[in-house]
Amino acid sequence: MPNQTPAAFQTNAKNGVVWETCRLLADTRLTHGFSTRRGGVSRGAQASLNLDHKQDTNENVRQNHLRLAAALGYDAHRLVSTHQVHKDEVRVARPEDEGLVLAGPTPYECDALITNVPGRPLICYSADCIPILLWAEDVAAVAAVHAGWRGTAADIAAKCVQKLAAVYRADPRHIKAAIGPGIGACCFSTHSDVPEALWAAFGSSVSPCIAPDPAEDGKFRVDLKLVNSLRLQAADVPAANIAISPECTCCLPDKYWSHRYTQGKRGGQAAVIMLK
Ligand SMILES: [Zn+2]
Repeated sequence: MPNQTPAAFQTNAKNGVVWETCRLLADTRLTHGFSTRRGGVSRGAQASLNLDHKQDTNENVRQNHLRLAAALGYDAHRLVSTHQVHKDEVRVARPEDEGLVLAGPTPYECDALITNVPGRPLICYSADCIPILLWAEDVAAVAAVHAGWRGTAADIAAKCVQKLAAVYRADPRHIKAAIGPGIGACCFSTHSDVPEALWAAFGSSVSPCIAPDPAEDGKFRVDLKLVNSLRLQAADVPAANIAISPECTCCLPDKYWSHRYTQGKRGGQAAVIMLK
């Protein structure tokens, strides 16, 4: 089974910025982190390290990006960002993509990014959805993946592994994966549309991730982190190479933004990875 002990993830702080790191990606050849709400300049429902342009000023988001970059140690002007639409597009990051997010929303659409270029950080966003960082150690390539339930059902995690293999000849058996803070089965109560989409895509293999909601007849509890772990394993990433953050964004509203907890009035945290 994937490592789900709290020790798989660790909390870090610098200059007021607080972020999580994963033991599997703790390596001198990488910089990575999962941001929290703490350490930024935004106010109100976006307080404070908001990285989502949708409900904040571009200047606040720009300042927050610069703060996170300074804390983690990457150049925000080289940052390549997703522009997420809950689909399965995996984009190979291009030189002209760098730094666009500092000026406003990124013009192209994609929910995952890959690169093998050192010094080019990749970022994706979440506020309940599941952020996943991948490191193809054998070919020195990385990926950032946004997997909400629609992207999960579209199999974006496995498709990203396949793209790393197709573009960079990565061997999935050497890929390491950090599944970051996101909504847990404790809080992800859904109608039948979510389990039906997952069963339609993956059959009974995902049944261990779906249970009746004990609090509400006809609803379900879905463990999206576990679904993504199973899909990574279906793409030949070994279970021992997958770590799952135990933290639920909806259970920890002071630490993370949760779309569900805030009923949509929120900011967004991010997952970042870069080859040094
Ligand atoms: Zn929860």
